[in-house]
Amino acid sequence: MDDSKLTELRARMVRQQIEERGIRDEAVLRAMRIVPRHLFVPERYQHRAYDDGPLPILARQTISQPYVVALMIAQLMLSPDDRVLEVGTGSGYAAAVLSRMVAQVYTIERHEKLVTYAQARFERLGYDNIQVRHGDGTEGWPDHAPYDGIVVAAGGPSIPDPLRQQLAVGGRLVIPVGRKQRQQWLVRLTRLGLNQFEAERLSPVAFVPLIGAAGWSQEED
Ligand code: SAM
Repeated sequence: MDDSKLTELRARMVRQQIEERGIRDEAVLRAMRIVPRHLFVPERYQHRAYDDGPLPILARQTISQPYVVALMIAQLMLSPDDRVLEVGTGSGYAAAVLSRMVAQVYTIERHEKLVTYAQARFERLGYDNIQVRHGDGTEGWPDHAPYDGIVVAAGGPSIPDPLRQQLAVGGRLVIPVGRKQRQQWLVRLTRLGLNQFEAERLSPVAFVPLIGAAGWSQEED
């Protein structure tokens, strides 16, 4: 597929799947018009990169549905000077979108193969305000805390305490939370004060499980 066709498909994705479903955050829309999502999916799925759904990537993981990426990022209510932590780099697509909106993005992934692939894509695109790390994101990334926004792209049984503690006062954390591994509610936690948090339930979602010290201990079959 040539570049002009891909640009057209991307513009249509943003209009029909995101704007028409009520997301009006201009910074999110602009970033999603720019980032070439087709470079973040395996080659054999490139013709479906702008479809309205998740797609398989390496290590039995998924790149999230474009609308879900937009919804989660919009809920962070970000500003250009912000610093954001993402847990669950996956393909690197959401981190790439975030990188077009804020000053610095830190992202953690538990599968090393995915870290390597995401890093290579960021370099190819010249997105130099993203740092990727291999590890357990439920522990956060204390070296760069506090974060204005934290987004978790996998579903845990509860909100990991290290992530709460690494959120700046006034910051927001968006995470799928549920008692079943693939059935969650998207929750937004706002840090109102040092020991004061407000939680809001946003919408039902179905993410891959968050595996780690403050997540699920292992993936169920
Ligand atoms: N944001 C990704 C994208 O744009 O492609 C989608 C991420 S995918 C839905 C969720 C990712 O979370 C998977 O790659 C999975 O390996 C990762 N993950 C699960 N538990 C994790 C943990 N404790 N720390 C870091 N990554 C984790």
